[in-house]
Amino acid sequence: TVDPAVAEDDVELAVEGALRPSSLAEFVGQHKVRGQLQLLLDAARIQQRPPDHILLSGPPGLGKTTLAMIVAHESERPLRMSSGPAIQHAGDLAALLSSLVPGEVLFIDEIHRMARSAEEMLYLAMEDFRIDIMVGKGAGATSIPLDLAPFTLVGATTRSGLLPNPLRDRFGFTAHLEYYEPEELERVVARSAAVLGVEVPPAAREEISRRSRGTPRIANRLLRRVRDYVIVHGDPSTSSGTGGGSGTGGGSGTGGRTLRAGTATEADVAAALELYDVDAIGLDRLDRAVLDAVVRRFRGGPVGLSTLAVTVGEEAETIESVVEPYLVRIGFLGRTPRGRVATPEAYAHLRVPAHGATVR
Ligand code: ATP
Repeated sequence: TVDPAVAEDDVELAVEGALRPSSLAEFVGQHKVRGQLQLLLDAARIQQRPPDHILLSGPPGLGKTTLAMIVAHESERPLRMSSGPAIQHAGDLAALLSSLVPGEVLFIDEIHRMARSAEEMLYLAMEDFRIDIMVGKGAGATSIPLDLAPFTLVGATTRSGLLPNPLRDRFGFTAHLEYYEPEELERVVARSAAVLGVEVPPAAREEISRRSRGTPRIANRLLRRVRDYVIVHGDPSTSSGTGGGSGTGGGSGTGGRTLRAGTATEADVAAALELYDVDAIGLDRLDRAVLDAVVRRFRGGPVGLSTLAVTVGEEAETIESVVEPYLVRIGFLGRTPRGRVATPEAYAHLRVPAHGATVR
């Protein structure tokens, strides 16, 4: 049997795949990083060697996985994907590394969550394409050296600060991805809209970009919800394959609408995103819960991360790597040695009077 929820996820994943740029030239924004990567890949190609190891850091959804795929695609090498949480023992990593084909690109997402013993094995693998496999225990334990095929490691992390220095130092190139500017997100939306068959005029595009928290993945997700909204509520005359003309458009035989979703107006965007709890500046329910806790419950702070996490019922790591960076970036939250503090902008956004509170 097919679980409908899983099937739906698969469809969304397939769409996600179609929205991914496959070359550096198609990758929007991150101008500096793109230039640096291009040079690294070009040099490797000229010398016919695998590119240096690459570390990508930054909040989720900014394109780390996409860049790893582009590195493999542009250097015409196979790609193997894994993640830190899947590598719980040195043995897991040994199995992975020893099965790589020469020149393969190995992508490890959330590399900061790999087991410590595996990290140590990775140092040697990255440097000398060699690992030592421990056999036996106690006094009789011996290590057997094993040569590996040369490979390129692309590591991704939301928290590069959590990586031990010896590991960080072994990457030949480290890039930090920044939140995208609204104009860049508009380009992402324009590109994705063409793939999804929905017409998004400039004003609606701006509206989606403004609400995407500087994050292409969110822009794409919101666009898909806007497309749904247009399919269901949009002006039928702007969508193709519906038989056009008069009639209320309800009931039977409207399957053709999936061909071209129609045109999204600013009002469609606002209505669709309100339905999904995305506010006018793109904050979602969790963002607002965190802000609300700092402002109302803790009177502007300072409040420690773990207290905050318990208050909103979310893991501290999620608050720290997903929620906070954007709230800090837009100037709503400050980090002090004593904890998180809300700024006057946060009060204004929540429409809470700031007087009497401890805001600096
Ligand atoms: P995570 O680390 O959580 O996997 P990520 O940073 O790797 O997140 P991706 O999965 O690479 O994010 O990107 C998310 C989505 O955003 C993809 O569908 C991709 O198409 C789109 N995207 C990301 N960056 C860009 C970009 N620069 N240009 C166009 N689309 C992008």
